Amino acid sequence: MRALFPPRCYACGAFIRDQPGSVNVPSPAPSPAGPLGKLLAPCLCRSCIDQYSPVESPICPCCGKMFAARSDADHWCGECLKHRRKYSRARSAGLFEDPLLTLIHRLKYHGRSELAGPLGKLLYHAYTRHWADRRIDWIVPVPLHSKKRRRRGFNQARLLVARWPEYPAGGKKSAPAEIRSDLLCRVRYTASQTGLGRQEREQNLKGAFELKDGADLTGRSILLIDDVFTTGSTVTECAKVLRAGGAGRVDVLTLARAGG
Ligand SMILES: [Zn+2]
Ligand SMILES: [Zn+2]
Repeated sequence: MRALFPPRCYACGAFIRDQPGSVNVPSPAPSPAGPLGKLLAPCLCRSCIDQYSPVESPICPCCGKMFAARSDADHWCGECLKHRRKYSRARSAGLFEDPLLTLIHRLKYHGRSELAGPLGKLLYHAYTRHWADRRIDWIVPVPLHSKKRRRRGFNQARLLVARWPEYPAGGKKSAPAEIRSDLLCRVRYTASQTGLGRQEREQNLKGAFELKDGADLTGRSILLIDDVFTTGSTVTECAKVLRAGGAGRVDVLTLARAGG
């Protein structure tokens, strides 16, 4: 079937036939996406893979913001120095620009749930990279309101981690974390956050999340998962609820991060 219907790039629509390693491409130049190119190869053409921007140092060790000046060492950003965060470490796989932006939109708004396979692997790569040294007990996907989940048919954050238990542990030495989609629920339907500033987003999300009755989080290390980190309002609101429920530490991992 593959020969008759070669797959198309999910970002630009080009046929994916001349991938690195295929017989048509004898010696491809190394991609700027490096080894990540392999993870993205099932859904992107070579030229879109080359446009992928991973989040790389220098970053803020707290919120994970990537600095424009590429020569500095990692250092705390002004916002994190000013406001104490509810989470201790936030990281993202790539920048929320094309081609990752289009892939996430295809997944969320065009029902292309098969993209959760390669994107989930990309996210897992970031997890083993940034949490090799830290124990995580529970992985908690940011919940959607039931109305939104029904309309979309799935929760993309949950779908992104669904296959993690099948993957090898990578550099992680601690016991594999358990995926807990049953701890947190979204009790209030909120308007779309798109186009809202930080304060409006925070206001919009107040009281949106609650812990399920009887959830005991005492001393647990939790990793929140979401698709995109824009201002961090959503994960901050979730972290607030988890910390109030006794969680010892809350970290955050998202697939993409808005720059700036
Ligand atoms: Zn493409
Ligand atoms: Zn920061």
